[in-house]
Order: sequence, then structure tokens, then C-alpha cells
Amino acid sequence: MDESSFFLATEEEIKKAKTTDVYFLRTEEVLKKESLDVKVAVEVTASSIKNSSWGILSGIEDVLDLLVGLDIDVYTMPEGSLFQKEDEKGVKVPTIIIIGKYLNFARFETPLLGFICSKSGMTTKTARIRLAAKNKSVLSFGARRAHPAITPVVSYCAYIGGCDGISCILGAEKVGVAPTGTIPHSLIILFQDQIAAWKAFDTHIPKSVPRIALVDTYYDEKIEAILAAEAIPDLVGVRLDTPSSRRGNFKSIIQEVRWELDHRGFSGVKIYISGGLGEEDVLEYVELVDGFGIGSEISAAPPIDFALDIVSIASEKGEWKPVAKRGKFSGRKKVLRCEKCLKIEVISWENEDGFCGHCQIPMKPFLVKQLEKGKRISKKPSIEEIRTYILNQLEVIRK
Ligand SMILES: [Zn+2]
Repeated sequence: MDESSFFLATEEEIKKAKTTDVYFLRTEEVLKKESLDVKVAVEVTASSIKNSSWGILSGIEDVLDLLVGLDIDVYTMPEGSLFQKEDEKGVKVPTIIIIGKYLNFARFETPLLGFICSKSGMTTKTARIRLAAKNKSVLSFGARRAHPAITPVVSYCAYIGGCDGISCILGAEKVGVAPTGTIPHSLIILFQDQIAAWKAFDTHIPKSVPRIALVDTYYDEKIEAILAAEAIPDLVGVRLDTPSSRRGNFKSIIQEVRWELDHRGFSGVKIYISGGLGEEDVLEYVELVDGFGIGSEISAAPPIDFALDIVSIASEKGEWKPVAKRGKFSGRKKVLRCEKCLKIEVISWENEDGFCGHCQIPMKPFLVKQLEKGKRISKKPSIEEIRTYILNQLEVIRK
């Protein structure tokens, strides 16, 4: 073992499929010794999406980087696609289809699934929070609740899923935005005086950084909010990170702070809340506050359970034979989507494209051919394009 290591897989190790499960290597060994090198079609479908009737597919660009150079064809939904695990007929929806000799990609199944299960879970949760928060601000504070090695991954998912800001410096840098944050309790405790700490922050930190005072360190939130508003002339907002032991009726605390600020002429001072908040809290408080700091709800979001299954095997003559294990739908398929209502329909490979029964417009093939014989033939989207794509889809389902 490398003594200096944080026990991490390197990018090189991931690309070489060293994080895979050992049974794939044993399968490869058996297949090679039996000269059973067959061409297959495999699908990646979601078995379950926890607490949601839809998911946002994320990690596709990683999957393409993982598989590039292998002699296979890869079709996927675009990164950031909103999908359901089944269509209206109960057919599992393929998010990725790979065509090629099984031995050419067998060992990549584990890292492939790892990328999309993990990232889709975090991105889906962020998107759900984005919807719940309406037009209010959502900041990702989750770096401290995740393994540091994956904080840029958390930041990526949080940003494309609709967060307005990222507190993690490296995450924000990789995403391409300026990091955002407020004031930690430690600064106030070191000064032993809230007002002195807020004023020192105001004195030394560039004016471009919004002044948002943390107002729950020593006194009641109402008292500290008023003190902050009176002490800092260009105060943008106050943050309530009220500890759970003091929370009581958090809604009433927020309403009281709002009332007292308004009553003293500080109606422009915004209220932000943080501290173990989840989607349910965002739904509950969205009309009362101006923004949320979200941590582990995103960075420790449950993964979406994707599985990869062989659905068709090609004969030596190139004829496809449908095959599937119990619980899966066999045969090669097409995935169609209505661009207007985002309804997905899965049809057999040979069938003609259909119409959306709701919108009466033609549905379009949804999977994009991304790799042809291992070569990338599609354009890699930018992070901003992916984020815009996700936000536009959320607007459709918001209606
Ligand atoms: Zn439609």
C-alpha cells in the first residue's frame, strides 16, 4: 500500500477499469478460453429512483471518456436528460445502449455504473430542490459532507442541477464560477463579539462579496439580525443556521426576524437559511426566505440504481436474437421522446417512430450516437449548455 495515499483511485486506474468487480475479469478469462467472443447489445436502465418519479441522467460525459477508444458503438441520452425509469407500458427505459463484442467492454461495467448512479443521484436531488425553491437562491454547501476527492463532482452536479452558487473553491473553479459563501461561526467566536466580527469582515473583504451576516451564534436570531442590519450599511442579508436544539418552530423564528427587520426599515435585507436542510424544508420555507444553503441533501443524495443488461446477441451472420434475464425486456430498442411534454416511449428497433398521444406531434429518437467504433462523433456539451438543458426541462415539468 502506498503510505502517502488517501486511499483513492487515480483517474488512470479508473480508465483502466481497475475499480471493476473481479467477476468481470474471471468472465473474460472464461470467454477467452472458450473462444466465445460474441457481439451483444446491452442497455443501461434504472431499477429505482428513490423518492422521485423522474431522474436527471448525469455522468454520461464521464462514461464516454471511459469508453472512448474501445471498439464499440455507444448511444446515450444527452448528459442532463430528464427521464423516467419506465415508459407508460412499463418498459424499462434504456439511457445508454452499447453495441459491440462483449469482451471489448465487459470490465468497464462497474465504473460506468458508478459514474451515472452517483452523479445522477446528486443531480436529480439538486433538480428537485431547484423546483421546490422556485425563484429563490440555492447555494451548495455540501463540500464538508463529502469525501474531499469528490467535492468537484458534487459541485458539478449541484451546478448543472440548478444551484446558483458553490461554496467549494476547487469545485467552483472546475465548474467555471466564482465561489460563494458567507461567514463561519468561528470568525464570530474568535472576535467574541458579533458586531466586531461583521465589521471586520466588512472592512477587509472586497465589496464585490455580498455582506451576509451569520446571526445565530450567541443571541436570539431576531436580536442578532437587527444588530447586523444596524451595524453594516450595505448588508445584503442575514443567515440563520440555527442549531437543531434551538430550532423549536423555525418557521416562526424566520417570520419574526422578517417582521422585525421590516419594522425597522430593513425590508431589503434578505433572509437565508442553512443547517441540515432537505427538500421538504425547502418546500416548507420557500415563501418565507430568500435563499437556502444546502449541504448533505445534495452531496449525500441516494444514488439512482442503474443496471447494465445484455438484451440481444448477434449470430455469426449478424442476426440479432433477443435475450434477457428475468425482469428485463429483451431485444434491441429505440427510445423516443416528445420534445414538448418530455414523455418517453420505448419501441422495438424495427418499429417506426410514433406520435405523442398527449401532444399529437411526432416523437423523436432520444438516444444520440456518441461513439462509433470507439471514436467520439458527437459534440461535447459545455457545462453551461448542460445546466441550461436541465433548467429548460424543469420548466416543462413545473407546469
Ligand atoms: Zn407530448
